[in-house]
Amino acid sequence: MGVGSDVDRAIAQTRAEVAALHAELVRYGLVVWTGGNVSGRVPGADLFVIKPSGVAYDDLTADDLVLCDLDGAVVPGSAGSERSPSSDTAAHAYVYREMPEVGGVVHTHSPYAVAWAARGEPIPCVITGMADEFGGPIPIGPFAVIGDDSIGRGIVETLRGHRSRAVLMQNHGPFTIGASARDAVKAAVMCEDAARSVHLARAAGPLIPIPQDRIDQLYARYQNVYGQSDDDRRAATA
Ligand SMILES: [Zn+2]
Repeated sequence: MGVGSDVDRAIAQTRAEVAALHAELVRYGLVVWTGGNVSGRVPGADLFVIKPSGVAYDDLTADDLVLCDLDGAVVPGSAGSERSPSSDTAAHAYVYREMPEVGGVVHTHSPYAVAWAARGEPIPCVITGMADEFGGPIPIGPFAVIGDDSIGRGIVETLRGHRSRAVLMQNHGPFTIGASARDAVKAAVMCEDAARSVHLARAAGPLIPIPQDRIDQLYARYQNVYGQSDDDRRAATA
């Protein structure tokens, strides 16, 4: 593989960014122990970096991240290549192969989102913050187990053409995508926030739906007008 200096720089930058983003999963209470993972596509290369399996968040450095090709194979001799990549690597790789607009993928077992996943119930869009961020309900993906492409396929089949950057894989938990790794982490944080708020609301009484045209307005305003950095913008193809 012809890894030139531009690619080396892109790899180093992606490693630093993705390593730092793992701290956000801890900060927002989305993970326990060594569970959960963030990956980021290396700009300009058919590569991504992902958390190694079984490494504590407090000990995670940029060089611990594992560099993989888009088939999920570890790049031999690269930093971190002595470690096993996350057990979810095949799912991340599948998403990067199938969705070229995706620059980052996140998986957690954040508790309120998992509670919806355990019921196989999409989170209804009943708060404006959800309309802003996800443009509608957060959908349920199929039941799938680790070991082949079935998780990745379920993510792509559910999210392709959907406004939501989050999918709740049934009986499992949330996977989120974004134009960048940071955008995917933001989606994971916002998904758990929506899951918690709607859970609390429904526990106390019936939910009030937001009319579809209002959801559309909120989503369009937030995605197109609201002052965000380019990094926060959705993939242009979404
Ligand atoms: Zn999982």
